[in-house]
Amino acid sequence: MKFINTNLDFKCGRWRNRRILILCGSLVTIVLLWTNFYSSIGSSTSDNSWGVNLKLAAGQREWQDSRGMRVVVGHYIGPSVDNATKEMMNKNYFAPEQNAGHDGRPVEIAPKELYLMRRLFPLHRFNLLASDRIPLNRTLPDVRRPACKTKVYVDEESLPEVSVIIVFHNEAWSTLLRTVWSVVLRSPHSLLSEIILVDDASDRDFLKEELDKAVLELPVPVHIIRLKTRIGLVGARLAGARVAVAPVLLFLDAHCEAAPGFLVPLLAHLRVSPRSAVCPIIDIISDETLAYIKSFELHWGAFNWNLHFRWYTLGNSELQKRKKDMTAPFPSPAMAGGLFAIMKEYFFEVGAYDEKMKIWGGENLELSFRLWQCGGKVEIVPCSHIGHIFRKSSPYSFPGGMREILSTNLARMALVWMDSWVDFFFKFNPEVGLQARGQNITDRLILREKLNCKNFEWYLKNVWPQHFFPQDGRFFGRIKHSESEKCMKKPVSKGVLGQPMGSATLGICLKDEDLNGMFVMTEEGIIMTDESICLDAPQKNEFEGEKKGAVKVMGCSGYPRQKWSYNEKTYQLQHASTGQCLDISTSSDTSSIVLRTCSTEKSQHWILDSVAWK
Ligand code: UDP
Ligand code: MN
Repeated sequence: MKFINTNLDFKCGRWRNRRILILCGSLVTIVLLWTNFYSSIGSSTSDNSWGVNLKLAAGQREWQDSRGMRVVVGHYIGPSVDNATKEMMNKNYFAPEQNAGHDGRPVEIAPKELYLMRRLFPLHRFNLLASDRIPLNRTLPDVRRPACKTKVYVDEESLPEVSVIIVFHNEAWSTLLRTVWSVVLRSPHSLLSEIILVDDASDRDFLKEELDKAVLELPVPVHIIRLKTRIGLVGARLAGARVAVAPVLLFLDAHCEAAPGFLVPLLAHLRVSPRSAVCPIIDIISDETLAYIKSFELHWGAFNWNLHFRWYTLGNSELQKRKKDMTAPFPSPAMAGGLFAIMKEYFFEVGAYDEKMKIWGGENLELSFRLWQCGGKVEIVPCSHIGHIFRKSSPYSFPGGMREILSTNLARMALVWMDSWVDFFFKFNPEVGLQARGQNITDRLILREKLNCKNFEWYLKNVWPQHFFPQDGRFFGRIKHSESEKCMKKPVSKGVLGQPMGSATLGICLKDEDLNGMFVMTEEGIIMTDESICLDAPQKNEFEGEKKGAVKVMGCSGYPRQKWSYNEKTYQLQHASTGQCLDISTSSDTSSIVLRTCSTEKSQHWILDSVAWK
């Protein structure tokens, strides 16, 4: 999603991915996506609405706004969308070249066209010129695991049929129609009942009669629903879902490409797990080159303290479960939101969507919480792959104000589903708390009652036991070094691959309202903080190659090297596997945290300074 000023791109995340290096054609930009496992979001990274993190090109800057959201100065020099003329917006630039983007390859733009490319980029916040070069029926690589390619599904012909629902607001011609064509080309037609396009009050000329005509050429029924006034993706998806004729609904964004074999694994899993939202692996279509890039399968979806969607790498216990059969669907605490299949009857039985959520945002967590808490599931089907163009910012308007809309959606979701944690969320996100006032959520509370849903504590404990939120029985607050009166802080530097990690250090103690200064210590002795990062030190036998005594903050792994115990009498924090105590380094002027043999030294005194969270 975008920041108000069009030159400032603002993103709060929906995705996280494994390390992939992409050389972006003539832009020669290195894009680095990473897993949560390796830490770090710092000065040179941006984070889009799907939680995909991009390493920014040299010279690109970013900072955090007052709410800790990253603000990025985009690296596309050129006119902003405000400077785009009406004529530019209404022109269809689609001009396919036979082999452009063939097999999911990146599109190269000749140097003489770079100016045009930059002028068109802001219209959709992806490389429109590149997209418009790629034929609608381009081929894609088969990115499935070998075992997926040979997997046999019982009674494939008798699987339930699907209605594919694609909502859009001012989408580009090429991406919209490539989404449609990719579904048509890669689905068994016996299983594809129809495609429903829901136009959320677009005003581009080419999305009117020209689109009506174009869909007539398709070999499956395509219906277009046109909404008179803009309502946002929730209302638009509901409009499509209500008229769908097939027992299964498959929702897709309007800039996707379905990969070989995507459909059957989703439908086959819904047959055995009908009370579930099943999600494909969401591959990446580069916003710069339109290259199709296979994504990482060993992560699941969840969220951070600000309720921004995040992908987190599976911890040890989940990995062991998955290793038994890498083709088997697995549960996920939350879904990214844009791409999933669900039985129509169940979707409406479980409350469809909260219709008061407008434009964009929050609906993916709301549906995820509701499914889990009310007896359903969110699952990822690793044999199904669909690509999605993720952008660093939204190209469209947010009537009523972007912050207001997003905060309202998040507030509604939290008020209905999060119980005590709603206090935590509002306390540290007062802006959202403000929007919560006056929200009428009665009908959603009645639904929660009617469906006999479990509470949020149950969700955290059972669906996401690895979570890093405060909870009764856990410490939440600052970890203070008593002698220096400084506090443990989250690293600002990053690991090779991503989110915050680095040596554990001390800094000024932050105020109660500042989440950046807060840590959680679980009953099992894991010291963790936002974004699933944990206090970590090498085990006895792991010292080799790692700095002796080094204490780090890095991705939570569930391994014993991340276990600690606190002695309230001696104020010591002891590392479980080495028996050593947390101390500070006197060898340098930076106050880094180290492990030393436990002693009576005052430098080993730590205070767990609790902060109320609800
Ligand atoms: N969308 C819509 N109406 C809106 C906002 C979004 O129909 O007011 C559509 C949009 O065209 C896209 C889908 O909803 O097909 C999801 O939006 P987007 O791709 O911007 O979200 P992201 O992928 O960044 O989460
Ligand atoms: Mn999208």
